Amino acid sequence: MHWAPVGVLHLPLKEGGQGLKCLHAQVRVFCLQALQSLLYSAGSSTWSILAHAFLHCFQRLRYDRQLFYLCPRGFPRDLSRLLVFCQDLLRTWKLFSTTRSVAAAVGADLLAEPLLHNPQLRVQAAESRSVCQSLVLAEVTKVGDLLDYNRRDWLDPLTLARRMGLSRPRTPRRILQEVKAALTPAARAYLNRALREGAPRPPSIPGPPDLSIGPLPCRSQQTPHPFTAGRLHELQPVSFQIAPRKYLYTLTLHTLHAHTLVSRPDTKWRDLLPPLEGEQPQWASLYSTLVPRPVGDISWRLLHGAASTGVFLTRFTPIPDTCPFCNVRETLAHVYLECARLQPLFRFLTNILLRFWLHFSPHLFIYTLPIHGPTKSRDLLVNLLLALAKTAIYKTREGRLAKEASCNCRAVFRSSVYSRIRAEFL
Ligand SMILES: [Zn+2]
Repeated sequence: MHWAPVGVLHLPLKEGGQGLKCLHAQVRVFCLQALQSLLYSAGSSTWSILAHAFLHCFQRLRYDRQLFYLCPRGFPRDLSRLLVFCQDLLRTWKLFSTTRSVAAAVGADLLAEPLLHNPQLRVQAAESRSVCQSLVLAEVTKVGDLLDYNRRDWLDPLTLARRMGLSRPRTPRRILQEVKAALTPAARAYLNRALREGAPRPPSIPGPPDLSIGPLPCRSQQTPHPFTAGRLHELQPVSFQIAPRKYLYTLTLHTLHAHTLVSRPDTKWRDLLPPLEGEQPQWASLYSTLVPRPVGDISWRLLHGAASTGVFLTRFTPIPDTCPFCNVRETLAHVYLECARLQPLFRFLTNILLRFWLHFSPHLFIYTLPIHGPTKSRDLLVNLLLALAKTAIYKTREGRLAKEASCNCRAVFRSSVYSRIRAEFL
């Protein structure tokens, strides 16, 4: 590739990106923060009262907060009757894996526990589309709706069948059996006591749900690269109530750009120059107070393979795929490591680095030197020299293609180092 994909540009600098903020991810994070406020905020602002009212009326389900822990498979696809803002909230929610630890066992939360598409109850008999619609028409969508306070017992299957518009009580009987079997003994005891005492009664509003948010399981057909820049596999689910904004942004960014990040290695040099054990690209070392931004950009593009080469250009242009200096096939490794014209420059660098007790190698040249506290000044200086050397290679190649006179990369490197010293110290 001659360029880096958008997903990579949005990664932080230390992870191999350019640290650009992704507007799509920002909008989704805003939706998640609005959801945090909607689900957990103690105060009831005007917008949240309105949002709750719209969610409650959605598809006549009479769910509110419960919408956020329904099984996504059973969730209605047509959100058009909701406010656009609420549609955005639900669409954002479906991008992630969101789970609730356990179903409610006591209190108003148990009465408001959803019957439909509830992964904690798993009422199979209520999964079919027609049964769902019948239950919605009968206004029986929560556990509390199955209680008959006048009889002080669960709803009679025949009564439920009549309300659902069914001639036989077989399906209602199955629904009642499955719900009772799914409830914990404590929950069943609570409901029996509520029936005996006649309270509490629906309608009831559930309390804040205990939800966790994390990445969706990978469903991509592509095999993830072992050294991918994507971090979805590292991100553990966290409690949604206290999920910090930084986590939500990272999760959203990697979810939205998963397709480009997962199948892509962090650097193109994994195959060309396999890193030694424990070695990895030092993205954070590419830019520093010493290294000017355009110089750092060339090192960054080189690590991503986003640099011009004959082999790449010949696919789209009449430019030959050979090196303009030595007529060998011009690959990325040839331009920056193997071309014979680079040898004087590399010998020069070897001599300079020896004065810092460092051994010059292709690995050091490409992956750069990690910056450690005790040797920070030396590391910064060495990384500056390496970055200037890459820039000299890049500029002299461009100059040769433009048929300019000076194409000696060692001389260009020396003059750029001198000019830096003059600018900084003289
Ligand atoms: Zn060459």
